[in-house]
Amino acid sequence: MGGTEERVTRRDEAVRAAVEQGLLGAGTPIVGLLDVTGIRESARELRAAFDAVTAPGTPVLHAFAVKATPLVPVLRLLYDEGLGAEVASPGELALARAAGVPPHRTVLDSPAKTPAELREALALGIAVNADNPQELGRIDALMRSAESRSPLGIRVNPQVGGGSIGATSTATATSKFGVALKDEGAREWVVRAYAQRPWLTRLHAHTGSQGIPLSLMAQGVAQVYALAEEINGRLGRRQIDTLDIGGGLPVNFGSDESTPTYAQYARLLSEAVPGLFSGRYGLVTEFGRSLLAKHGTVVARVEYAKSAGGRPVAVTHAGVQVAARTVYVPGSWPLRIAAYDAKGRPKEGPAVVQDVAGPACFAGDLLAEGRALPLLEQGDYAAALDTGAYYFAHHYAYNSLARPGIYGFAPDGSGGVGFATVRAAQTLDEIVAESGGAHATALTTLRAPGRR
Ligand SMILES: *Cc1c(COP(=O)(O)O)cnc(C)c1O
Repeated sequence: MGGTEERVTRRDEAVRAAVEQGLLGAGTPIVGLLDVTGIRESARELRAAFDAVTAPGTPVLHAFAVKATPLVPVLRLLYDEGLGAEVASPGELALARAAGVPPHRTVLDSPAKTPAELREALALGIAVNADNPQELGRIDALMRSAESRSPLGIRVNPQVGGGSIGATSTATATSKFGVALKDEGAREWVVRAYAQRPWLTRLHAHTGSQGIPLSLMAQGVAQVYALAEEINGRLGRRQIDTLDIGGGLPVNFGSDESTPTYAQYARLLSEAVPGLFSGRYGLVTEFGRSLLAKHGTVVARVEYAKSAGGRPVAVTHAGVQVAARTVYVPGSWPLRIAAYDAKGRPKEGPAVVQDVAGPACFAGDLLAEGRALPLLEQGDYAAALDTGAYYFAHHYAYNSLARPGIYGFAPDGSGGVGFATVRAAQTLDEIVAESGGAHATALTTLRAPGRR
């Protein structure tokens, strides 16, 4: 595993350099930082983990789940490392295309694809996993009217159960995703769907995300493999040639260690589903959080340090707008906080139980409650760690708080840290424009019928 200590050192150096270079300060009190070195390492670890267990020559596409970090330069970086893109909306597809990810390295999954989206995907040759019988009916119509190079499959819900977080458990009995395999008649329907459509060559499941134990993920994959074997066996041909096993490797938010590792998961799969890596099936994976989470940090200035009811409260610029899940469901999504001083150096001192609050105007806007940290003071910085996926790229516009700038960092070649803009901070003009600024008089000039 790419050195944990090195990653921590890189992060600390980047925070200090961000302050020194003026990316972060009184006038720019919040930024997102991305560790380019770490992202490349994770991509390489993913590829190496599967290379180590798959038969030589097996086609494997690791399609990054764009929803985890929907930023064009990140998709480009991962493509540069040999990954593709899994997209689930017209916007995500547009991001993947803007990053230069070609159609044959792109997979479209989503539970609500419109006819226009399906038509575009099939015209481009992007792989599509049909979520349900109605969607398959739409694809039938498109396949009758035009040729397509798109690899096509069906998403199934193996219904193996949920994990510790309901919102990310996709394989429960009543999950909204895919064809619920254990429902009455469903398995027969799936087999018939393949029998009637020689162009259905893939089978897909994503058993869940954060909170799902590895053993349950492996059970989901085992179900998919068994179903593919059953279909191919009953059809007497190897019609299904590729299995898409989804993503979902959980991230350790409790320390700097990256556990579990891709290598552990790949090994577990090779034991639990030995045929999976035999070379008889090409593979697609769709990891998101595990590729990016550890490589992102939100750093926010402490605007004020106060005390209430005897508890110290650091009022920072990072709250619900960059960490919506943590603020609304803190029990499921706790984040580690690191304290830095005004110069961006790791803060020393005895641990003091304190709240780390955000800037939004509701009492629950807390990044961390009752956390023991060196006492944060005015002008210090609080860093929310492991926020590279599903955090700062998932802005929530509460209080019209601006989207922070996001910068990638890497060694500058002469012992320092270099930064590149991944996404510029949102400007006030942009906030106004995105909030109907061009339509200021729209409502006062609208007259209801019958009124003067
Ligand atoms: C969200 C999602 C993923 C990625 O999940 P992670 O937990 O981020 O790895 C992969 N596939 C599908 C279909 C998803 O919905």
